[in-house]
Amino acid sequence: MQKQVAWVTGGTGGIGTGICKALADAGYQVVAGYSNEEKAKAWQQEQKAAGYDIAISYADVTDFDSVRKSYAEIAEQFGTVSVLVNNAGITADGMLKKLDFEKWQAVIKTNLDSVFNTSKSCLDAMLEQQYGRIINISSINGEKGQMGQTNYSAAKAGMHGFTKALAQETARKGITVNTISPGYIATDMIMKIKEDVREGIKAQIPVGRFGEPEDIARIVVFLADEASSFITGANISANGGQFMH
Ligand code: NDP
Repeated sequence: MQKQVAWVTGGTGGIGTGICKALADAGYQVVAGYSNEEKAKAWQQEQKAAGYDIAISYADVTDFDSVRKSYAEIAEQFGTVSVLVNNAGITADGMLKKLDFEKWQAVIKTNLDSVFNTSKSCLDAMLEQQYGRIINISSINGEKGQMGQTNYSAAKAGMHGFTKALAQETARKGITVNTISPGYIATDMIMKIKEDVREGIKAQIPVGRFGEPEDIARIVVFLADEASSFITGANISANGGQFMH
């Protein structure tokens, strides 16, 4: 039987790697999206050495044409994408008083325009096959807001609105659209925060640790499953109890 195809943007990053491996373990043909070629090639070799045969595909997620091209190549090589995981993201922090438009726009484009670009690229084929899973990786800071992150909080909150709207548009078509909101996960994105600030954040997490990529990956696998068809327009928070609502 042909494997279902799962496309994970930012697949070669910290959380992305966990998601790619978990989906591969669950039997999907996984394609990891990247923008940094050198890193992606080394990453792919590393995965191969660990027994994971994961394809890679270039797309700058901020650029519709680039995403569209990547989608076409993936579909041609492996078939229709059934599971799209919108995981690519960046931060460019600063208090609004000092935040310039470039930082605002870079974060909005990478974290939110990207979701339009990829979902739009996948949607026609998902509608045609009357099946699909779109999983958007948002953030605790899109739920609660975070000082110094007006851009990131806005982009991640925007994902929730997108998710709920598209979930309604596709609910009768076998497609589910959901959001996962991770708390602080021990990846490069977090490790580049100054140590004293980072330790302060850890102290606010009731379970007493940062999350691991696997804590998020297991939710992706759950939502991607065919049997999860009654869950759509939902948000699953995984933050060690740091934000409850
Ligand atoms: P990483 O920095 O490890 O990974 C981010 C990935 O995004 C990279 O693989 C990068 O690929 C990709 N990316 C960035 N810009 C672009 C672009 N223009 N086009 C294509 N790909 C791009 O971060 P994490 O793994 O920590 O984060 C993954 C997701 O989880 C993000 O959306 C983040 O906001 C979210 N998140 C993370 C949390 C955490 O604590 N770590 C908490 C809550 C949410 P490349 O290197 O090839 O450019």
